[in-house]
Amino acid sequence: MTNIHAHYLKAMGIQVWVRRHLPPTLTEEPSPMTDTAQVSQTPQVAPVHELDWEALQNRVAACTACSLHKTRTKTVFGVGNRQADLMFIGEAPGADEDAQGEPFVGRAGLMLNAMLYAIDLKRESVYITNVVKCRPPENRNPDKHELDCCHAFLLQQIVLVKPKLIVAVGRVAAHHLLVTETAIGKLRGQGFEYGENKIPLIATYHPAYLLRRPSEKRHAWQDLQFINQRLAELKR
Ligand code: SF4
Repeated sequence: MTNIHAHYLKAMGIQVWVRRHLPPTLTEEPSPMTDTAQVSQTPQVAPVHELDWEALQNRVAACTACSLHKTRTKTVFGVGNRQADLMFIGEAPGADEDAQGEPFVGRAGLMLNAMLYAIDLKRESVYITNVVKCRPPENRNPDKHELDCCHAFLLQQIVLVKPKLIVAVGRVAAHHLLVTETAIGKLRGQGFEYGENKIPLIATYHPAYLLRRPSEKRHAWQDLQFINQRLAELKR
């Protein structure tokens, strides 16, 4: 505001009103000092692809990007070895995961642990996460918007882990990662590649599905042997 304008407003008896109701930038002469202070006070939010593990986990914990944040108890980030050769990616947290903040716990988690044990792997030696980090109500499948909102977090987890092999666990994860709608029964038993870095990917049944359909366990066993064999090849 110029002095001429200030005098004019004072004469009109409205200078005080102007100072109280307009932001400082509109009531004061701009100065280099004021501009610098305002720029340095603007919060800088780093893009997800620049975050380290701690910052990424904090960003997920505070995330409200999709409506799933409204009904979650805890975000379910991921667990296990952050330098693992093998990364398991499931679909979404269920009730037990939502309560504990950890993926693949409860009956499905015990089944996954048993599957890993069958190929001489411990849960702690692999990295485990889901394509979405918050529980969908009533355990429904996450929709496309929710999957898209959460995708950057998963992508950064993959970048940080740098796995030699990704296992897509269940139909939702396989469809999202492979951008397909082919039945999981047809996707399993094949080798795929994921992303720009062409990380080898194998799809298999979700442990929760195996609990409902025990007859499919023989196929899951074949998948585990395939995973084991492929991992051995990739480590050579
Ligand atoms: Fe954010 Fe993912 Fe949770 Fe949606 S599901 S609120 S995108 S962390």
